[in-house]
Amino acid sequence: MEQKTLWIGLVLISILLVSVVPMMMPGMDRETYVDGMDQFRQDLMSQGKFRCCLEEPCSYCLKKEEGCECMDKLFDGKHPCGECIGEILEGHGNRFLTKYFASAIAEKVGEQHLDDLKLIISEKYGVAVDEQV
Ligand SMILES: [Zn+2]
Repeated sequence: MEQKTLWIGLVLISILLVSVVPMMMPGMDRETYVDGMDQFRQDLMSQGKFRCCLEEPCSYCLKKEEGCECMDKLFDGKHPCGECIGEILEGHGNRFLTKYFASAIAEKVGEQHLDDLKLIISEKYGVAVDEQV
């Protein structure tokens, strides 16, 4: 009987802890999260480990790669990360890299789309189709 009471007590304490502990450790707010990401990115940039191809550097590579090589990949004709592909097609790529965008993205989505990609890049960045690699 005494052992049964002890077990019930332990179960009740466990339930209490499970419900109270999350309240004592509230989730990180958005501002803290973004500030932390920005600081982490800055640290990687200062170490030369973050070389993105966007106007506003991507976040995908922080989470997946702990460093960004999207710019180097572009120069090699390889596709950048998915976030960079999307942002480039929206017109948010680094304008100094414009001529590399279409062929690098075609490496991922298929060479049969290269001409269409060049048209999109031409429209978004005002660079002629035949100036693109
Ligand atoms: Zn990227």
